[in-house]
Amino acid sequence: MSFRQLVVWSALSCVWCAEPVSLQNTRAMPVSRPSHNIDIDDTHHFHMDFHDEDELYALFFDEVVIPSKKRLAEELDPHVFVGRRNASAVLGQCSMHMNKRILEADNKLIILGAGPAGLTAAVYAARAGMDPLVVSKDGGQLEATSRIDNFPGFEEGVDAVDLLIGLTHQAERFGAKFKSCEIDSVHLDCRPFRVQCTSGLEMTSSSLILASGARTKWLEVPGEEQYLSRGVHSCATCDGYFYRGKNVAVVGGGDTAMEQALFLARMAEKVTVIHRRDSFRASKAMATRVLSHPHIEILWETTILEYLGSHQMPQNLSTSAKDGDDHSSDDLKGIRIRTNAEPNESGESQQEVRTLPIDGVFVAVGHTPNTELFGGVKRDEYGYIYTVPGSTLTSVTGVYAAGDVSFHCVDPCY
Ligand SMILES: Cc1cc2nc3c(=O)[nH]c(=O)nc-3n(C[C@H](O)[C@H](O)[C@H](O)COP(=O)(O)OP(=O)(O)OC[C@H]3O[C@@H](n4cnc5c(N)ncnc54)[C@H](O)[C@@H]3O)c2cc1C
Repeated sequence: MSFRQLVVWSALSCVWCAEPVSLQNTRAMPVSRPSHNIDIDDTHHFHMDFHDEDELYALFFDEVVIPSKKRLAEELDPHVFVGRRNASAVLGQCSMHMNKRILEADNKLIILGAGPAGLTAAVYAARAGMDPLVVSKDGGQLEATSRIDNFPGFEEGVDAVDLLIGLTHQAERFGAKFKSCEIDSVHLDCRPFRVQCTSGLEMTSSSLILASGARTKWLEVPGEEQYLSRGVHSCATCDGYFYRGKNVAVVGGGDTAMEQALFLARMAEKVTVIHRRDSFRASKAMATRVLSHPHIEILWETTILEYLGSHQMPQNLSTSAKDGDDHSSDDLKGIRIRTNAEPNESGESQQEVRTLPIDGVFVAVGHTPNTELFGGVKRDEYGYIYTVPGSTLTSVTGVYAAGDVSFHCVDPCY
């Protein structure tokens, strides 16, 4: 017995219908709404398309609960009745069909992403004999930085790119393969899963690990790119140590900004929190700790207009730099900020623009997970992939998530 299409109508309480439902969850076949709209109260139904044209329909019925099954059978012909007596046999056939399709995939496992999460997954998957193929367009967020000081086992810190190269070689040693490609669509509605690159290349895989990371939301003002990792940062736990005894600013008003400010206040001489509104949206407890901290100053209703190097600092605030010097490897020396001041006597709003000398700025206005391509998997309100707590399991059987892309790993995690 084999099927082109499987349609299941059953009452919600139908015990032996649970199995086809679980089969549907494994994404053995694409799922769509029944083409025949037959109104049956208190039922759930679903519909699976098998691809081989010469296969038959199968109708799963809850024989007892659905009195209108005869009418359904007339409308959906050809068909196979499945009930209490032959449900197991039919499900066995379906499972075999599914397994065959899964085994026909080009790959056992594709890992989407070659940042620390994807590469770590590749090391373990390769050692477990899963023959992983790692697909990525670059090395991820670590490519934007230089030194990693908080990776265990490296007494003097480790160069970020060296770390990525080392992880790549380690995974390769166990048999992991790598492919460079910008992925533009991922089809999770049916196993084997399909991954497509902008080049037109298409790959299939029995299972997937999503490790596509997240991107920092930056302020996108002049100088930000130039001073990235040379005064402009997004992670206090990672880079705060470089600012012992110095003046730093944290931009933002949420819990992450509060965490970063409190962390930095342990080592920096002074922390200035720059927030564009007149109150924090952080939790009250966190905000109170920041507001009462002796080394933290708050600049309300203030925005950064520009990051400045030594050659852009006013004479009285700086530096030995002269015009004509090569400033391409400068570090950040200050910021130009705009603050909403008190209205004047006629009630007109006032703005003050000034330069603030600063050694480091930590931008803490959030992250955006790279999950736009994974529409079929459950995500939280911010777009992070939902994983079962304590695991990498996602809402789709055979699809796993690791690293910054997953919802347990929002901002405060590093
Ligand atoms: C400037 C900077 C400095 C940092 N410094 C530190 C630090 O010192 N210590 C620390 O612990 N953390 C630091 N972090 C954070 C750290 O980089 C991240 O936590 C970490 O990289 C997350 O790893 P990941 O593998 O989950 O994702 P990522 O490293 O972001 O990797 C994502 C992967 O997915 C791939 N990808 C995404 N979309 C696509 C697509 N459409 N097609 C193909 N490939 C795709 C990317 O190419 C990449 O390979 C820093 C981050 C930044 C931005």
